[in-house]
Amino acid sequence: MTILILILGLTATIAEIIGALIIILTKKWPQKFQDYTLAIGAGFIIALVLTNLIPESVKSIGEAGAILIMLGYATLHLFEHTLVPHLHFGEETHAEHLVSTTASYSIFFGLFVHAFFDGMAIAIGLKYNYTIGLLLFMGIFLHKFPEGMTVASVLSASGKKVITSLILTSLVGLATFAGVLSALIAPLISPKLTGYLFAFISGVGLYVGTTDLVPEINNSKTKLAPIVVFIGMLLFYIASDFLHKTIH
Ligand SMILES: [Zn+2]
Ligand SMILES: [Zn+2]
Repeated sequence: MTILILILGLTATIAEIIGALIIILTKKWPQKFQDYTLAIGAGFIIALVLTNLIPESVKSIGEAGAILIMLGYATLHLFEHTLVPHLHFGEETHAEHLVSTTASYSIFFGLFVHAFFDGMAIAIGLKYNYTIGLLLFMGIFLHKFPEGMTVASVLSASGKKVITSLILTSLVGLATFAGVLSALIAPLISPKLTGYLFAFISGVGLYVGTTDLVPEINNSKTKLAPIVVFIGMLLFYIASDFLHKTIH
């Protein structure tokens, strides 16, 4: 299982770095690709959180599960939109917010923390339950390309040199992998931690789907993007049904 966790964690890390490289090297923004991958990823992860992660968290650790879900949601809110004044997924077109170096580094920090929890979610999901872990990986993988694109876009909008952008986007990618490793170490400290962290990352997933991704899709000029959210939900149902039939 550890090998699979490392391989899937590395896949998500690479997807993030590829997303960033597309922007750094081509300097073109594939708007439709961004909107559709965000929309599918949003529908997929929201369906996963509501139908699997939340009920499973409460079943596993009882009422404490509900509190940890809220804590997971609140933690991302703190790091992405409280400590960091300006952060959204998608192309960074608001250069006026990035006049100071601190502003771009604060967005970088918000996405760094976000990526860390993405990685933790993949690994904890797989530790907790193989099927749920694979579904969590799919949900997260779908938004890793646009996430990498977002990081690169913020850095280039704030006038960073190509080499600085490359180093910083690689760091956000590596934060994903650090999250994977942290989740591998946690159960060694206390086996109980897996259940608690599972509930926590359910709240993180809820934030990613409903607060990071959906608002971006709803503001998009791509008319079909909001409809594609339903395709993400349908895709989740198909993938979940397939995995349950194949694995059990
Ligand atoms: Zn902006
Ligand atoms: Zn993410």
